[in-house]
Amino acid sequence: MNDKVYTLGVIGGGQLGLMFTESAHAMGHKVVVLEPDPDSPAGELADEHIQSAYEDEDALRKLGLACDAVTVEFENVPAASLEYIGQFSEVHPSPDCFRYSQNRIVEKTMILDQGLSTAAFQVIAGPEDLETARKTMKFPAILKITEMGYDGKGQALVMVPDDLEAAWEHLDNPECILEEKIDLAKEISVILGRDKEGNISCFPIAENVHKKGILHTSAVPADIDSDLQEQAEEAAKTLATALDLIGILAVEFFVTKKNRLLVNEIAPRTHNSGHYTQDAVMTSQFEQQVRILTNAGLGDTRLKSSVVMVNLLGNLWKKRVPNWDMLEVDSHIHLHLYNKKEARRGRKMGHFNYLGNDLEELHKKAADMFAKLGGTVA
Ligand code: ATP
Ligand code: MG
Repeated sequence: MNDKVYTLGVIGGGQLGLMFTESAHAMGHKVVVLEPDPDSPAGELADEHIQSAYEDEDALRKLGLACDAVTVEFENVPAASLEYIGQFSEVHPSPDCFRYSQNRIVEKTMILDQGLSTAAFQVIAGPEDLETARKTMKFPAILKITEMGYDGKGQALVMVPDDLEAAWEHLDNPECILEEKIDLAKEISVILGRDKEGNISCFPIAENVHKKGILHTSAVPADIDSDLQEQAEEAAKTLATALDLIGILAVEFFVTKKNRLLVNEIAPRTHNSGHYTQDAVMTSQFEQQVRILTNAGLGDTRLKSSVVMVNLLGNLWKKRVPNWDMLEVDSHIHLHLYNKKEARRGRKMGHFNYLGNDLEELHKKAADMFAKLGGTVA
């Protein structure tokens, strides 16, 4: 550790920026957030909130000049904005890393170039591609817009070849990929930190359950054999090194019924499936991000306890705020709320981490608690 107080910039004011700010403050650093929304979770906690569009050069210059290093909390920040800030401040990860995670074709091509596997896919750029895809792809398949999709948005399940055209029209005919629907055994993710010297440290692998395309729970340790664990960690390290990424990288994987590992997607930032690290790992993913930006050396990523993380979406709010007092019955539950003003269906409002020794029991306890809060997982 050094004594210097850093000023760190974050582009984006959502919950990932909020939890980054919490960690930076805990470590004695200052945070400036650039975010157009006047009421954002991170903007309110930050030492300074620059309220502007992500493309506003005056605002980007102001952010760069105020900060020792700038990072990003969501991947759809224009790479040009990051390049512009680069004239005034360090920017990590580099703008290039975001080019890969912003476009599914560029992303998957890079993954394949590294000798890793993805689900089979085909690019749908125009009507002629529909014809080829109908003949050559396996169905059911998933049509995904190539840019700006998140939490399963901009996706359509296509059961049979004849439904492809209507699905594409339903998405308004943008550039898409058509991806084979994988018969999943499970989904896992590796989150790692890579510092400026290229040292890498992986967090324990999370096993993730999604509902309607949105992460519902992450459980750690993941129930996978050591061979698969090693493959996943090596794949994530290969990707981080290929991108020369400085910061946090999240890699989502599919595990097929035949125990094959396929890379689903990458995010050059902290990740929802890493929220368990806040309470169950020696160093959280947010603290690690701060440590990398402030040259403090990578923190210890050993697991302190088994854990199940449960996401709390706006659906839970129905008419009033859920009764959080219920969580106080067990001191192994750690609640994290994002201080969002409005609860909407599907909006991520918070999460809890349930710690304990026995993962099977934890799954039951976490599901019980989620149901008591009014949650349904249909
Ligand atoms: P986010 O960026 O929030 O993770 P996204 O909108 O980019 O989400 P994906 O990760 O592509 O979406 O998909 C969301 C979830 O939908 C996956 O985690 C998985 O559960 C399911 N899914 C997506 N693609 C496939 C596939 N090819 N086969 C089986 N399931 C899939
Ligand atoms: Mg995903």
